[in-house]
Amino acid sequence: MQEAINHKQKRILRLVKSTNAIRSEQKSMIDSEDYYKQVEHYAEQIRKTHNADEIIRILDVVLSETRGLKFSDEVFVAQEQVKRAEQKIELLKGELEQLRGLVQTDQMTGAFNRRGLDDIFKREAARADRNAQSLGVVLIDLDNFKKINDNFGHQYGDSVLINLVTVAKETLRPSDIVARFGGEEFVILLPEVELEDALTIIQRLQNNLERNFTLQIDNESIPITFSAGVALRSFGEHQNSVISRADKALYQAKRTGKNRAIPALA
Ligand code: GH3
Ligand code: MG
Ligand code: MG
Repeated sequence: MQEAINHKQKRILRLVKSTNAIRSEQKSMIDSEDYYKQVEHYAEQIRKTHNADEIIRILDVVLSETRGLKFSDEVFVAQEQVKRAEQKIELLKGELEQLRGLVQTDQMTGAFNRRGLDDIFKREAARADRNAQSLGVVLIDLDNFKKINDNFGHQYGDSVLINLVTVAKETLRPSDIVARFGGEEFVILLPEVELEDALTIIQRLQNNLERNFTLQIDNESIPITFSAGVALRSFGEHQNSVISRADKALYQAKRTGKNRAIPALA
């Protein structure tokens, strides 16, 4: 996947440089003195990064600056060429966005994977710090999942994981994030919540899961449940630190009978 991104990166570099070559010929007629230097600078930035997010951000700047340029009538042909190059950059940007999505997604459940979580956590943490907002970080782990696999088969276990993510997405706000942390463990990020709200939201998720999915064993209905550790990230707190606090609370939830959410210590 990274190879595909690198390949796209090379094509983008060629395109960005080609729009610049067209412009540098017409430089005197174009109403932007430092443009040539500027695009060289962006090309250098693109060359240095292997992060799809960062490349997309730079492309947005290139495109918006290009659109801000004024052309005189004499450079009509060049303008057409630039327009075509711009369209190609847009196209590649779209493809890059798709690839980024694949790189960040757990294929089975459609939740973010660890890599996606890392990227999004950085973004959400920066936003929370910037705006002095809270960020809820919840670690959940399905209860007795090994038994579910043993009794109903691994494929059935898979469908339980997929269903959990579906129900979580339906229950949570669009701005909330669901990521598969590993096996049958998930991290949920809840921007702008207080601890009490986060506990209520997780309780609602458990209720919706029960309504949606129960197992029949010996004519008995057994709900699929999870345990959760619920933490509020403090200002400047690193991902590992807040997840480790959530993990300790999750451990308490398991120890005290499962199927419950426990708030983490600050
Ligand atoms: P606890 O309530 O203490 O969490 O017990 P548990 O059985 O859920 O936990 P344990 O760690 O003993 O077992 C987790 C199981 O999750 C074992 C592993 O095979 C299963 N598992 C991990 N990933 C997947 C997956 O992708 N699909 C399926 N079907 N099972 C998985
Ligand atoms: Mg586990
Ligand atoms: Mg488990």
